[in-house]
Amino acid sequence: MKIDKDRPSTWRPYDSNFCTQCRANCCSMPVEVRASDLIRLNLISIDEVSNSIKKSAKKLKKLGFISSYRDGTDFFMLTQRPNGDCYFLDTRSRLCTVYDQRPDTCRDFPAKLGTRVGFCPGERK
Ligand code: SF4
Repeated sequence: MKIDKDRPSTWRPYDSNFCTQCRANCCSMPVEVRASDLIRLNLISIDEVSNSIKKSAKKLKKLGFISSYRDGTDFFMLTQRPNGDCYFLDTRSRLCTVYDQRPDTCRDFPAKLGTRVGFCPGERK
């Protein structure tokens, strides 16, 4: 069956060894992050977030790092490129350019979270 990232029933059982050969389909899915992730990515400071999370969101949106902020949940949506790729994905290598500082969502998917935990939309490069 062909893998379709939008259809979790087509996903394969997750195997972390596969990640180096994968074309990073998971990095072309929407990624919700928290302020702590954005601080770790050095996109915003602790002081700015402490002063006003809404102003921080406005700044991050203006800079193009996030596409939206959901008031009340404190979740920010990372910006996706027109083809769906994450802003931080290298389009040629299909590798994350901020891997060591990547958000918790990226660290936990798909072993601990996702629409089909334990399965991923991985395909070879
Ligand atoms: S931050 Fe890195 S690991 Fe997370 S979706 Fe973007 S490119 Fe992928």
